[in-house]
Amino acid sequence: MAEHPSGASLSASAKLAMLLVSLSFVALFATRGAAENQPPAGPAAATAVKLENGPDLARLTFDVTRPVAATFFVLSTPDRIVVDLPGTDFRIDPRVGAPKPGNDKALIASFRFGHFAPDKSRIVVDLATPARIVRAQTVANAAQPRLVIELARTSRAAFDAAARDSLLAAEAADTERASPVKQEKSALPFIVIDPGHGGVDSGAIDNGLVEKNVVFDFAKLLAAKLKASGHYKVAMTRDGDVFLSLAERVRIAQDSGAALFVSIHADSISDAANVAGATVYTGSDHATDAEAARTAEQENQADAAAGVAAKDAANGVSDILADLTRQETRTYSHVFARTLVNYWKVAGRLNKNPERAAGFRVLKAPDVPSVLIELGYLSNAEDAACLNSPGWRDQTSSRVAAAIDAFFAVRGSTFGAEKQPTATALDAPAQAK
Ligand SMILES: [Zn+2]
Repeated sequence: MAEHPSGASLSASAKLAMLLVSLSFVALFATRGAAENQPPAGPAAATAVKLENGPDLARLTFDVTRPVAATFFVLSTPDRIVVDLPGTDFRIDPRVGAPKPGNDKALIASFRFGHFAPDKSRIVVDLATPARIVRAQTVANAAQPRLVIELARTSRAAFDAAARDSLLAAEAADTERASPVKQEKSALPFIVIDPGHGGVDSGAIDNGLVEKNVVFDFAKLLAAKLKASGHYKVAMTRDGDVFLSLAERVRIAQDSGAALFVSIHADSISDAANVAGATVYTGSDHATDAEAARTAEQENQADAAAGVAAKDAANGVSDILADLTRQETRTYSHVFARTLVNYWKVAGRLNKNPERAAGFRVLKAPDVPSVLIELGYLSNAEDAACLNSPGWRDQTSSRVAAAIDAFFAVRGSTFGAEKQPTATALDAPAQAK
């Protein structure tokens, strides 16, 4: 809904197909380019970045394999500058753009980059001070083309006016992206697995790990196990390193008529390295505690991190039927959350308060039972080692799959009947403990 205009007309699946095609081109030409010493065709790549960051002027310079056409706009709350490019591979460590001490006195607070959609890449610059774009263009010199983004300090009023113009342009061109996952007539329950973040939005970065990659590996493993069981239809919200807005993730769950939505994340608290263990969240208007509220707020920043303009969530007309549906859905979400906690503890560490609720935007589908798992804390060395271990991921994803089996074994007999689900946890089988 809220993503910026250009490139929004292709369906996500078409884009994914294009991505796969272009990826194989990259592989093809990378080999051939090396053999014949020719410049590679296919998507452009950015291979290095340099930041010059002063209080009045700043410059970001990306080395690119060939010239790329850049368009740009500005966004407020928080103040950002967004530069869009055709699909460009960033072969640069995402940690390079993290905030650094002293950056608050310069124009640029931090920056990130990556795919926004399969055929579109994006650079998002977080501003410490209102700034305007002097230029964003490729400077082609024979040896090394460079994408140069130059910023200059500007007034708050001028910045806000530019941000309002960007927003109007975005709204005028806003189009609905078709959902990549279609509802399938099937007797099997449909499960949507949602690896958090992706593309330009890396999520948390700590202890050498990048959240979007860790959660994608876990989600892929879990989806494969569920599919292999033959008990479910399974879809992932993203199949690669691509950004998806929170609203799009919710829409995929709803459009596919999902019976369960499981969002996968990994948390980080930079100033509390001892906090550890997995937490299972359900959606709620009221957070169970301050820590849950902080986590939801952090995860709800995903769209802002990717340079997507904030929009007021359209509140559906409140009616009694919708409230009843929401109520029933929440009961199912709670049952699954408790079941998952019970199963998880057999193989993995739990947070001291492992079942919580808060206002996660990705858990807002009123008719799809939804939970969000924070697998652990990237900021905790022990958790980080687990998250990075294929053995640990194999064991814990099996526990999640087993919890899903237990949930549907009970739900299958009550779903659609007048009987309300019981709000008690389903215990992990005794022999597995
Ligand atoms: Zn996350």
